[in-house]
Amino acid sequence: MSLSAPTTATNTVTLHARSVRKTFVSGRIESTVLHDLTLDVQAGALTLISGPSGCGKSTLLAILSGLQSADSGQVHALGHDLSGLSARALESFRLQHTGFVFQGFNLFPALTALEQVELPLSYMGLAKDVVRKRAVDSLEEVGLGPRMRLLPSELSGGEKQRVAIARALAKEPELLFADEPTSALDAANGQIVIDILHRIARTHGTTVLCVSHDPRLVHHADRVLAMEDGRILSDHVPPSPLATATEPR
Ligand code: ADP
Ligand code: MG
Repeated sequence: MSLSAPTTATNTVTLHARSVRKTFVSGRIESTVLHDLTLDVQAGALTLISGPSGCGKSTLLAILSGLQSADSGQVHALGHDLSGLSARALESFRLQHTGFVFQGFNLFPALTALEQVELPLSYMGLAKDVVRKRAVDSLEEVGLGPRMRLLPSELSGGEKQRVAIARALAKEPELLFADEPTSALDAANGQIVIDILHRIARTHGTTVLCVSHDPRLVHHADRVLAMEDGRILSDHVPPSPLATATEPR
């Protein structure tokens, strides 16, 4: 079980953001969503970014993953300065090194689970047999082997999110980003998704950066960054569920 699994977290910083600022302008109103935010993320760890709705979590994740650009500041990921990359190089970086799991799954309605997972692997230029093997292995890893020929409309919400995770995982990314991956799911399916993310960090050594306000995720994270109003308020290692259960009140 996950509690006794050895951690693969290291002290190597794989993602580093410095003085990241983001302001959105809407009409005449300018609002700064990220206030010169600085953080380091360690390789192989599951880092959780928590905080109330609207505090800037999704914007931060989008900037750290190269989906959006910051107005100022730097993001270094796997030794690359993301702001220094051309649009094409950034797209290639994201394709080769990152996976992204979205709150709303972002699956293609007309593709089977297997085809969804195979699609980015084909874009990566992998050979057909490698694409098939990686896709099948990833779907089996998230428990969807028997359902890989089904369309999204034939899958439950929890299964759709597991397809999305398999799609990200099959790329064998060093960095896996997940934005509120459990918020559209019931408790049981949310727990399955949390366990999978936890296992990915443990067994694959993948750096997982997850945004969530789901309190169940806290105990599965190696580190929790609490955000409020575009700033990081606290940075701590959460107690394990076992420690919490045995601690006197
Ligand atoms: P969270 O994920 O913590 O709920 P977000 O990062 O989505 O927060 O949003 C933070 C703030 O930035 C919110 O007030 C939101 O309305 C605003 N915002 C996010 N994206 C945009 C955008 N593209 N244009 C204008 N405002 C935005
Ligand atoms: Mg959000």
